[in-house]
Amino acid sequence: MNSYDAVISGAGPAGCSAALSLARKGYRVLLLDKVRFPREKVCGDGVTAASAALLEEMGVLELLRQRPESLNSFKGATFVSPGGTVVQGRIRQIGNLKGSSYVIPRTALDDCLVSRVKDHASITFLDNTNVTGLILEGDSVRGITTSAGDFSGRVVIAADGAYSKIARQLDLLNRNKNQQGFAMRAWFSEVEGLSDSIELCYDKAMLPGYGWIFPAGKQRANVGVFLICRFTDHRTLKRMFERFVNEYAYASAKLKRAVMEPGTLKSWPLPLGSFPGRRGRGNVLLTGDAGSFIDPITGEGIYYALKSGQYAAEAVAHALKRNDEAGALKRYEQLWRGEFSARVYFPGYVFQHFMNNSWFVETFMRYTAKKQSRADLLADVVVHNRKRRDLFKLLNPFHQVY
Ligand SMILES: Cc1cc2nc3c(=O)[nH]c(=O)nc-3n(C[C@H](O)[C@H](O)[C@H](O)COP(=O)(O)OP(=O)(O)OC[C@H]3O[C@@H](n4cnc5c(N)ncnc54)[C@H](O)[C@@H]3O)c2cc1C
Repeated sequence: MNSYDAVISGAGPAGCSAALSLARKGYRVLLLDKVRFPREKVCGDGVTAASAALLEEMGVLELLRQRPESLNSFKGATFVSPGGTVVQGRIRQIGNLKGSSYVIPRTALDDCLVSRVKDHASITFLDNTNVTGLILEGDSVRGITTSAGDFSGRVVIAADGAYSKIARQLDLLNRNKNQQGFAMRAWFSEVEGLSDSIELCYDKAMLPGYGWIFPAGKQRANVGVFLICRFTDHRTLKRMFERFVNEYAYASAKLKRAVMEPGTLKSWPLPLGSFPGRRGRGNVLLTGDAGSFIDPITGEGIYYALKSGQYAAEAVAHALKRNDEAGALKRYEQLWRGEFSARVYFPGYVFQHFMNNSWFVETFMRYTAKKQSRADLLADVVVHNRKRRDLFKLLNPFHQVY
């Protein structure tokens, strides 16, 4: 049986990020994915400035620049309230990060991630290989079983997405409906009135979720709706999507002559980061959607997948150096909880209640729309270009937000 320092199941953003980080620290990694690349992933394809900064570090943006048709940068974010107030924020790029934000079709983004991984001599990459289970030995895991045979690893990293087989086998999968979102998206061509802004529309019927129109090329857009299951029954997803496209005034005006690209209407769960469970057991760590890391307010998951992959790599490297494989989980929990729990996940879970109130959303949008600097700050926070706590500056009417 071939043996590695780390075996990673799933080659999306979380798996590729963990693999590259470990390989750069000198460890031997096996990365597997059940499908052949390039492959599609159901997503809104919004890549915030924070994600773009990580992709730059990984050398992935450099590859995407060679495919300019896939790299659609946007310069603003437009928010539409339930009553139709429009807030147009410009991304000022004077915050924490000066990078751009993009809409990047996942087929291209994930293909470039995998290309970077394949370049690395310490990573063995096998696609078209289904990981079927963990090989248990007492309390620890010795490796994995796959459609191409068994492989052993000192640690296993699950990056196999929202339906993670590994998380399920360990009974760690987020099955709590109060901690999940669901989204449906389709690609549209011949969309009218697209600008260089992403558009987020807060329809009363889907609060605290929203509908989106993300421009990606000439008259082409990724269009979808995001529902939070503890407030909106996810079985209404298709109806909400149709309502957004055909009845919600702002979106239907843009989409009335647009054509939905056949076969692109798809839905997928979003396991939210506010899920309280541990993200692993023994020498197995859960990353990205497998570990439930999505932002409970915006539905952003790519950044948290890339970052949790990095944290997992850091924790694994620390543990392997000390020959204490089971110690990886403790460090991993400290790293991700220290960064995300109190800043993003807990406040996000609480803020869902405010966002569920259409009066609150309406009042907040009208107030923000009154000053361009407020709208710009909101746009910068949403694309992760400024810290979330900067939003409190909006509440002080005398404070200059910049
Ligand atoms: C409709 C929708 C819109 C979204 N929009 C956005 C957005 O605009 N911006 C944003 O940041 N986030 C968005 N998200 C969230 C984002 O898509 C995810 O958080 C992100 O893809 C998580 O990355 P990951 O690497 O954890 O998992 P994935 O990207 O799901 O990758 C998992 C990989 O594991 C592989 N795999 C699964 N099972 C096995 C197995 N048994 N063996 C081997 N391999 C396996 C899969 O083939 C896949 O390649 C959206 C989600 C949805 C559903």
